[in-house]
Amino acid sequence: MFTVGMIGLGAMGQGMAKNLANAGFLTAIYNRTIEKAQTLGQELGVHVALSPEELAGQVNVICLCVSRDEDVLEVVHALTKTIQPNSVVIDMSTVSSHTAKQAAAILACHNVDFLDAPVSGGVEGAKTGKLAMMVGGSESVLKKVRPILESMATRIVHIGETGSGQATKAVNQIMGAGINQAVTEALAFAKAQNLPMEKIIDVISGGASGNWFLQHRGLNMTKGNYPAGFKVALHHKDLAICEQMGENVKIALPLTTQTRLDYEQLMADGFGDCDISALYHLKVK
Ligand code: NAP
Repeated sequence: MFTVGMIGLGAMGQGMAKNLANAGFLTAIYNRTIEKAQTLGQELGVHVALSPEELAGQVNVICLCVSRDEDVLEVVHALTKTIQPNSVVIDMSTVSSHTAKQAAAILACHNVDFLDAPVSGGVEGAKTGKLAMMVGGSESVLKKVRPILESMATRIVHIGETGSGQATKAVNQIMGAGINQAVTEALAFAKAQNLPMEKIIDVISGGASGNWFLQHRGLNMTKGNYPAGFKVALHHKDLAICEQMGENVKIALPLTTQTRLDYEQLMADGFGDCDISALYHLKVK
């Protein structure tokens, strides 16, 4: 029988935890800023652990969704103090393939399985349980925990060995950078021509250039609103990972580099915690 713990209750983790709870899997939650966990724990009626170590002692499947590579490794190190052998750790954060391999190696010393299972679909996908999940690691471990993952994702694809889930997510992030550049540039062009933005977004969304980002972020960005969704600072972190991976295999990623530099400008201008659609701000200013 599964007992599941969730660590990291940010923009993504909140929705994931709620879906795990609705499916009857969730036993315990932990968040570094404890108040967030206490509020959610009350709402969901699950135990609020005061540390990753406490959580690891109470469950046999641990889902993570924290920010960066160093955060994943910090949490994994903490888990090793109390984690039960034959448990499974599923990391849904976006980090490098190298970090996924490090985490798997650390946990393997404790007889614990690890899957890198980054996701795409935004906070909306996390809320509705309709994420796309790209998984690296053992296929038989994935088979075992698939029912848990199905409470959060509608498309779950096993890619290959440990780290391949994160490599796939890097592909997604490179594509996301290009889509952000294309949509924000096109909408800035539309605005400069005094076109009716709502109608523009409506009609283009129904044609060959229509896409998720335009549909979900278009209207807000043209109003200068970039509410928390996917933070500029987090995509910036991902693009640096992509550039490093590109360098390793000698492939040029000019759009990725330009987007990372644009995000650096946005972060310097105070937009680091805004949604990545804040790129529009650079195009219209
Ligand atoms: P977020 O809202 O900034 O939340 C980050 C979470 O990680 C918070 O709960 C934070 O705790 C926790 N955390 C950070 N460092 C930690 C540490 N050292 N130890 C313990 N907990 C730590 O970010 P998010 O948007 O949910 O994204 C989380 C991950 O999913 C990132 O890797 C991101 O790239 C990826 N992702 C995001 C999206 C999206 O659209 N937002 C989509 C797909 C994937 P505190 O509350 O204490 O800060």
